[in-house]
Amino acid sequence: MSAIVAIVGRPNVGKSTFFNRLIERREAIVDAVSGVTRDRHYGKSDWNGKEFSVIDTGGYVLGSDDIFEQEIDKQVELAIEEADAIIFMVNVEDGVTGMDEDVAKLLRRVNKPVFLAVNKVDNAKRAEDAVEFYSLGLGDYYTLSSINGSGTGDLLDALVEVLPESEKDESELPRFAVIGRPNAGKSSFINALIGEDRYIVTDIAGTTRDSIDSKYNRFGFEFNLVDTAGIRRKAKVKEDLEFYSVMRSVRAIEHADVCLLLVDATRGFDGQVANIFWLAQRNNKGIVILVNKWDLVEDKETNTMKQYTQKIKQAIEPFVDVPILFISVLTKQRIFKAIETAVQVYENRSRKIPTSKFNDTMLPIIEHYPPPAYKGKFVKIKFCMQIPSHYPQFAFYCNLPQYVREPYKRYLENKLREEFDFMGVPISIFMRKK
Ligand code: GDP
Ligand code: GDP
Repeated sequence: MSAIVAIVGRPNVGKSTFFNRLIERREAIVDAVSGVTRDRHYGKSDWNGKEFSVIDTGGYVLGSDDIFEQEIDKQVELAIEEADAIIFMVNVEDGVTGMDEDVAKLLRRVNKPVFLAVNKVDNAKRAEDAVEFYSLGLGDYYTLSSINGSGTGDLLDALVEVLPESEKDESELPRFAVIGRPNAGKSSFINALIGEDRYIVTDIAGTTRDSIDSKYNRFGFEFNLVDTAGIRRKAKVKEDLEFYSVMRSVRAIEHADVCLLLVDATRGFDGQVANIFWLAQRNNKGIVILVNKWDLVEDKETNTMKQYTQKIKQAIEPFVDVPILFISVLTKQRIFKAIETAVQVYENRSRKIPTSKFNDTMLPIIEHYPPPAYKGKFVKIKFCMQIPSHYPQFAFYCNLPQYVREPYKRYLENKLREEFDFMGVPISIFMRKK
């Protein structure tokens, strides 16, 4: 799990430019929000070997100043609640504005690290102009130019310094997170899992102050359920439930080994659900898809499930080796099966294949169908192994790794999945020079 950093500030100061620089070639998740807000972006970054998630909390495209201010307050409050550190971006071209002062006022009350980033300092003259931002009462500031990158290193050095260490789980138990859109049935599902209090074995303080893992013994399985501080504050931010639930998901996913993604059967696997799915996939977490409220689906012929499964698989291509279950929290249908499957996915994610066995299985497959020649060169894969890591990664050693294209890697992944059980688990494949 890694820390979460939120970038806040009024529109046009350069938040997305900075965000894009942070995540570089990594893909961002876009959370398209309708109305006055602009899309929000989530991505992963790392600096000095420390990995963290970044949220560009977006900006506002339209709206009167009133709406604007309300929205910005809300955005900052959410960031304060969910993030480990906050980058407050302002812009030297415009100087201190009223809205900057409003945001600063909110941030001065916070006891999380706040970094004041004065952007668009493209030259030395502008560095002098930045002095006026002392008036925001947030102490020292960092000057930077998101466009040319100058100054960003100093800010990031200071930022990663205060972020909590990513810690390896102290527990050997599977850590499950229940994620999904608002109203999918997450709380009901968690209640069903928790049952009565006697199932709670112990509370373990989480690795950050905001999260608590509770250990459960249920249906004969032992696991930790990832809870976040956010869950208890749910009602307060109804207005922005969707964003809030994505923020919560980001946090929960970070802490989990396996994510149980709840989908409301009556609403289907829509774009927002897909966003959450990709969040879990890109974090290399195990995934079980639970189509909930199956009791509400009428006309349950044998084909309904099949068609539903087909549709979901289309939406999650190419990572389709994911268990999909149809459950009802209300009638408790297949709740046990859901947990059983999650435990199985956890085991798959922890699977370590001995090198000799891996070579004995994969090399004949490769020999039978070698990588196609590329630019007249033949690629010879000589050796392969699973890389020691907390999720499945595999290296294939060959003479010309750069000539192995995506389709062949996908072929290797498919074969690997046929031979070894990695259901529900994202895997990475690397070609390396030997
Ligand atoms: P956001 O609304 O806060 O996300 O701002 P954007 O990242 O969209 O940037 C707003 C505008 O400022 C764009 O035209 C950027 O190209 C420009 N911009 C961003 N960073 C810098 C910078 O460091 N220097 C200069 N001169 N322009 C910048
Ligand atoms: P959350 O926002 O994801 O935590 O969703 P809740 O657990 O609050 O559930 C939202 C609504 O769906 C509540 O009214 C639940 O009673 C209802 N609900 C949850 N699971 C089921 C189910 O399996 N079947 C039916 N019919 N309703 C359900």
